[in-house]
Amino acid sequence: MTGAVIQAVHVPWQEAVIERIRRQTTSVSSFFLRPQNWRSFQAGQHLDVRLTAQDGYVAQRSYSVASAPGLEGLYELVVERLEGGEVSPFLHDVAKVGDTIEIRGPFGGHFAWNPEDGGPLLLIGGGSGIAPLMSILRHRAAVGTEILAVLLNAARTWDDVIFREELIELDAADANFTLLLSQSRDAAWRPQDAGRRIDLPLLKATLARLGAAPRLTFVCGSDRFVEAVTGHLLDLGLIPETIRTERFGG
Ligand SMILES: Cc1cc2nc3c(=O)[nH]c(=O)nc-3n(C[C@H](O)[C@H](O)[C@H](O)COP(=O)(O)OP(=O)(O)OC[C@H]3O[C@@H](n4cnc5c(N)ncnc54)[C@H](O)[C@@H]3O)c2cc1C
Repeated sequence: MTGAVIQAVHVPWQEAVIERIRRQTTSVSSFFLRPQNWRSFQAGQHLDVRLTAQDGYVAQRSYSVASAPGLEGLYELVVERLEGGEVSPFLHDVAKVGDTIEIRGPFGGHFAWNPEDGGPLLLIGGGSGIAPLMSILRHRAAVGTEILAVLLNAARTWDDVIFREELIELDAADANFTLLLSQSRDAAWRPQDAGRRIDLPLLKATLARLGAAPRLTFVCGSDRFVEAVTGHLLDLGLIPETIRTERFGG
């Protein structure tokens, strides 16, 4: 905790231009930011975004980088629009291509993956919690490693699965990667998926699918999602030190 504070103080704010906005689902869009000064990052890390109103009111939030570290010069942030929120509705409803926003970072050492960290990797994301896991998967694909990886991704419906087509393509192209979807308000669209929330039996089946004990497990999503999933993983015998979590709030 202290380390994170010291780190934040020494990283200056800078301006970044919104170069592209891409709709992902009805409530989620990707924002591609080109910073004035490129700072490289590790897959899994996040940036801080700061908005300042004309009256000087400041709102600051964190967003994980979803792009791979190799995509130099551009950060992709995946933002879910939360009704009644301060920052995410502004980004969705007001911000447009060509606008400038302030960013700082990257931050986050504990929730980062480098190829030398190895695998097998168990990645579990809920909603926009896919963002840092996508960066990890894209980085893994870009370096061409054969490290085994399974992504269990929870969304409300099939149409709420962020990066759905890219993930399905990766699943088809890479024999060492498996995509499993869990949809809480939709039937399973593929035989290997589940039409229910992530629960202990589903996590047990996911571990079986991985076929080996995960060397590292990354869990990301809302506070409640991360709490529930990590509780089940510990019940299933995973070693606490191998589980890394990122909580988005809520
Ligand atoms: C390290 C880190 C990385 C993050 N990465 C992402 C990311 O990649 N994409 C993304 O969309 N968000 C991410 N978040 C969450 C993000 O920082 C904001 O909290 C979120 O966008 C809400 O901000 P807001 O100003 O729109 O809403 P606020 O004004 O902060 O809150 C509005 C309401 O929504 C509730 N709420 C806040 N966060 C959540 C949540 N996650 N789920 C459900 N309810 C919530 C609040 O309790 C409040 O009632 C991350 C958070 C952290 C700490």
